[in-house]
Amino acid sequence: MKKIGVLTSGGDAPGMNAAVRSVVRMALDRGLEVFAVYEGYQGMVDGGDRIRPIGWNDVGGILQRGGTVIGSARCQQFRERNGRLQAAYNLVQHGIEGLIIIGGDGSLTGAHVLQKEWTGLLAELVETGKIPQETADTYQSLKIIGLVGSIDNDMYGTDMTIGADTALHRIVDAVDAISSTAASHQRSFVVEVMGRRCGYLALMGALAAGADWVLIPEAPPNVDDWEGKMCSVLAEGRAVGRRDSIVIVAEGAQDKYGNPITSQYVKEVLESRLGEDTRVTVLGHVQRGGSPSAFDRNVSTLMGADAVEAILADEAQTEPIVIGIQGNKISRTPLSHCLEKTWGVAEAIKHQDYDEAMRLRGRSFADSFRIVRTLVRALPHGPEPGKRRLRIAVMNAGGPAPGMNTAVRAAVRLGADKGHIMLGIDNGFRGLIDGDIQELDWMQVGGWASRGGALLGTNRKIPNESDLYAIARALEKHQVEGLLMIGGWAGYQSALALFEERHIFPAFNIPIICLPASINNNLPGTDLSVGADTALNSIVEAVDKIKQSAVASQRTFVVQVMGHYCGYLSLMGAMATGAERAYMHEEGVTLKDLVEDVRQLKKGFKRGKRVGLMIRNEMANEVYSTGFMSALFEEEGGDLFDVRQAILGHMQQGGDPSPFDRILATRLAARCIDFLETQIGGDEPESACIGQVQGEILLTDLRDLPRRMDTEHSRPKKQWWLDLRRVAGVLAQPAPHKKKR
Ligand code: ADP
Repeated sequence: MKKIGVLTSGGDAPGMNAAVRSVVRMALDRGLEVFAVYEGYQGMVDGGDRIRPIGWNDVGGILQRGGTVIGSARCQQFRERNGRLQAAYNLVQHGIEGLIIIGGDGSLTGAHVLQKEWTGLLAELVETGKIPQETADTYQSLKIIGLVGSIDNDMYGTDMTIGADTALHRIVDAVDAISSTAASHQRSFVVEVMGRRCGYLALMGALAAGADWVLIPEAPPNVDDWEGKMCSVLAEGRAVGRRDSIVIVAEGAQDKYGNPITSQYVKEVLESRLGEDTRVTVLGHVQRGGSPSAFDRNVSTLMGADAVEAILADEAQTEPIVIGIQGNKISRTPLSHCLEKTWGVAEAIKHQDYDEAMRLRGRSFADSFRIVRTLVRALPHGPEPGKRRLRIAVMNAGGPAPGMNTAVRAAVRLGADKGHIMLGIDNGFRGLIDGDIQELDWMQVGGWASRGGALLGTNRKIPNESDLYAIARALEKHQVEGLLMIGGWAGYQSALALFEERHIFPAFNIPIICLPASINNNLPGTDLSVGADTALNSIVEAVDKIKQSAVASQRTFVVQVMGHYCGYLSLMGAMATGAERAYMHEEGVTLKDLVEDVRQLKKGFKRGKRVGLMIRNEMANEVYSTGFMSALFEEEGGDLFDVRQAILGHMQQGGDPSPFDRILATRLAARCIDFLETQIGGDEPESACIGQVQGEILLTDLRDLPRRMDTEHSRPKKQWWLDLRRVAGVLAQPAPHKKKR
């Protein structure tokens, strides 16, 4: 394989550029020649200069841009055999043997058809004298790799499609904004989001933004008078003091008989039945636009890199492959299988087999739907007859992390809904020592889903021996039967301290569960902690601006990010912003490294680079500080470039939680309540920390925690994301050739 083509097709999606950049640079690094096929299949059919070589520097500076720089289109001709015949001719003329196609299920269906017909198309080209037999023999097979670019997250074979996370950012920002104006005027709003056949954006948008009702195609209301049911729930909410009412409607929402439910109809229902002033907001193309989120940039980068590996492997020889992400691992699945399953959902919805549609969407989708249904209730169900009300305490501890409030809200509401008494401990373990505990009720946590910071208060206090007596007294006084600690490293250590003393203090012999919340992402038992995604997005936004500030000058920035001894934010931040280098404590920094980095920077600037970017974790090296590095680079850079440092500081801990953090916080909190319910009252109750590992929610026994923790550096002994360094390293190196133009 020598030459490959890359194209973006169908609806554009933020993150497509990151994928193109990664494909182009990875392929060049592997010695391939790369052609961009401009305007999707239209360019493939048109040929000519719509199929052109694309170089290393051509994909510089596109990572942060929305849309797709190589263009996308819908192409009627490609739907017909004749169009595909012309496309095949053009590909062969350019010597292209493999294609990496970034598009939605429509585009990938097109790819599937093209590959199936390939041999026949070449035979016809030979028959009609367009190409000689030798050419047909040389290009016998066409290798195809697909990446799913679609904001709807509507395709099987990947947990997330390129663009879906960014679209959720747009939706959640919009709904947060609408909520504040709705609350000021006690208005109702109906918000319509994209998703003709998939309710992902509506459902996750509702979960993340704390909406009051949601309508999606896969799970229509199961009663005939759904309008009545919706109105009674919203009216109850008003009665107990809720100031805003937000209904989110997916474009393709329908009732159980398959009749469409439009946002306009929902508005009419709310106005006529509740007499409420109701406004409709159709979010439309805003959801598609704008700069991609940190997640979309990184996932697209990793998928693009694997697409190149896959096209070079034998796998794609006979059957196109879809590159996806499952948990935090990049996956490969045969395209035909992905298409079959995707069509299955559409068929199930069409035939009103909603159980099947939900089953095909997978467990986390169904879980989320159940959680939303509980959270939207205005008032809790209350205890089941014959079941005892448990007393469950919730607290934050460690540094503040965006999403802590979201987790508290979910825990309080889901616990209260099961009839339990939910207690809030103020101000972390400090507050617990002082006995600052009060009951939290359903409405008290209203609006907490979207608020940054820690409304319960948090701090890094780890109780010492004498504090333990006070804590035991407080727990006994308030008859706490189970404890949910939502927090970071100090919280985990404190929880462990109580757990280890449970044989001495009977008050500690209760189930304790830790929910990971820390921007550092340095907690054991989970791949990701709540808050890290928000911090990463804050870093990425800041670095984008810093880079823009330097367009006129030749400048290198040394940007310092948080993370304590954990390099997650620096590595992922570097990958998402196209930094040349991430410095982290895990790798250490040597003078030799710095000398080599200066050499690479100089090489880059000599070849036309305008901005250099190095991201340094705050604890990467004690001696080689951010100031030291900046001074060193400045001195060594000479006339080629100057250097500025930027220490991002506490903005990383602030801000409203990102959609991902809200969803993670909510799902984890739901499982924590289930866990406490099953453990409370047992003779030897278990204690655990919860986490998301490989996409699944898992519990780790607190007993296992110490051996997984690197206590000296407050981070887990094993960190999965360290494997991603290779891709980031390849993409950031200076262009191997002189700039082409
Ligand atoms: P998306 O890829 O975003 O789902 P579309 O469904 O519009 O967007 O598909 C994009 C393009 O893919 C179409 O304009 C067409 O050129 C091609 N395509 C879609 N479906 C098919 C098909 N069944 N056969 C051949 N080409 C197709």
